[in-house]
Order: sequence, then structure tokens, then C-alpha cells
Amino acid sequence: MILRSREEAGGLRWEGRELLPYKESGTHFRKIAKQNLFGSGEGLPSELRYFEIAPEGHSTLERHEHVHGVLILRGEGEVLVGDRVSSVRPFDLVYVPPRTWHQFRPAPGSSLGFLCLVDAERDRPERPDAAALEELRRDPAVAAFIRV
Ligand code: MN
Repeated sequence: MILRSREEAGGLRWEGRELLPYKESGTHFRKIAKQNLFGSGEGLPSELRYFEIAPEGHSTLERHEHVHGVLILRGEGEVLVGDRVSSVRPFDLVYVPPRTWHQFRPAPGSSLGFLCLVDAERDRPERPDAAALEELRRDPAVAAFIRV
């Protein structure tokens, strides 16, 4: 089976896969679209998802027991993993270990598209409480980066 992709104004799109479109703003994420590409329907114990964050959007600041394997495909951006903010570009790999705070954001004027591999069965993400936010914000680079 081959499912073709095409590049649209809003990002990469694969045929035959449901698109969960941009939400202008959730409570804790912004301008992020998602497509579930592979998962239990293909007999896999993992899920491969494609996310595209529009300019000025961001993913949820969160942590959890399960890990992420991320492959950047499109655009430029910055990621927080743990206590470090790093810039990323296409084909960079980002590994998010267990229990590690993480957030993805496009660079100014850019969108950011990436594949994210996760366990199909996984724990629920945790968002930072006031104490965790205070801890994260001790580092000025992290404080300037995070969006909640
Ligand atoms: Mn996550």
C-alpha cells in the first residue's frame, strides 16, 4: 500500500488519512494540525503521526513516561527538551526521553512539520503546575521560550 503525500499551503498532507485540522487555539496548544499515519490499523505497536505547527503556534508543554522519536520534515523551529532550547531544521532527529518537559515551536515566519513516533499504549501527558513552571523559568532561555 502506498499513500501519496502532497504539499499544500497548510503543510504536507497524506491521502487516505484523516486530518485533524488546525485549532486556532486550544487551552495549551496553538495552530497545530495532526495526521495519524500508521498505528494499530496496520498492526503496529507504535503510532506514527505528522504534526504541522503554523507560524506563531506551539505544541503543548508537557511530559510523560512514554518517549518520542521525532523527525523534522519541514520548516524551521525550536524545541525545548528538558532544560535546553535548540533550533531544528529538516531531517534533524529529536529524542524526548521519559519524564522530560518538551515543547515545539516554529521559527518566526515559519511553520514546522515533523513526524512523531510513540507507543500506541501510553500514559497521559502531564502539564506543568505552578511549581514546575517556576522551576522551568529559572533558566532565562527556557523562560523566554515556553508558552503555556
Ligand atoms: Mn509529548
